[in-house]
Amino acid sequence: MVELQTAFGPTLLAFAFVWGTLWGSFLNVVIYRLPLELSVVHPGSRCGACGTPIRWYDNVPIVSFLLLRGRCRACGARYSPRYMLVEAACGVLSLAIFRAVVDLGSPEDLPWDLGWWLAWQWFAYTLVAIAFIDLEHTIVPLELTVPASVLGAVVAFAFPNGLGLEAVYGMGVGAGFLLLIVGLGWLIFRREAMGMGDVHILGMTGLWLGWRALPFVVLASSLQALLAVLIARVYGAVTGRGQSLTMTTEQLDERFDEVTENAGLPSHTVIPYGPFLALSALEAMLFGTEAFWWLMDRVFLSLLGAQAP
Ligand SMILES: [Zn+2]
Repeated sequence: MVELQTAFGPTLLAFAFVWGTLWGSFLNVVIYRLPLELSVVHPGSRCGACGTPIRWYDNVPIVSFLLLRGRCRACGARYSPRYMLVEAACGVLSLAIFRAVVDLGSPEDLPWDLGWWLAWQWFAYTLVAIAFIDLEHTIVPLELTVPASVLGAVVAFAFPNGLGLEAVYGMGVGAGFLLLIVGLGWLIFRREAMGMGDVHILGMTGLWLGWRALPFVVLASSLQALLAVLIARVYGAVTGRGQSLTMTTEQLDERFDEVTENAGLPSHTVIPYGPFLALSALEAMLFGTEAFWWLMDRVFLSLLGAQAP
């Protein structure tokens, strides 16, 4: 079926991208409304500043944002570039997953391939939504983690080449490891070093990617979080603006209206870890973790003074 590939290949890839941007457009609604406990379907999209309903031709993913230069047609209010970023990211994710799982050379497998494409998109879009919501509100909605975890379990056992039990181990290891960190943080600092949201994210990631992906996800997310804090500090020092990425523990307590029975303990700075977990899970999903284990093998072998095979 080489002809099918050459004839429809670029068209299908373009379709996969546009398909993703449409979901990205919906994801923007989810990211904005879910933390505010508003319906994600009613009413239709409207300007957050003036309330004017956004017409379909002003709601074309990416294109409308560029044409209107990120402003409302009615009142001229400026929209965050996040809207276009989310649409583009979802388009790229849909396209990348399509290329990875859909094999046009074997049409008899096409229904399952398309099933995998749709399923992986659900997981990927869930991670994108979690990243932006956690970054802004420091919460990880169960409305996102629970459906993606249920679907992950279905995929693991019902789809051909699903992870099966490996997915169950992945969820146990992922959630268990972070629960341990939460417990230790509680013992040492008498407060949450990490939220239950992070436990949900890593458990869900283990379910979808298997436990083998988790060491990479934990290490890569920690490094990227440190890097982001470093960049935010430098940016803050250079521009003199406050850091939006980090909060003090008092600010966090205030946000969640917690009783400060921890008073007397030194304040420290915290960052939402969820966005970085979600980012690293996406990286592991897109690029695999073989390179990570290859590197680890060499690091440990060199420590032991042995020769890598
Ligand atoms: Zn407006």
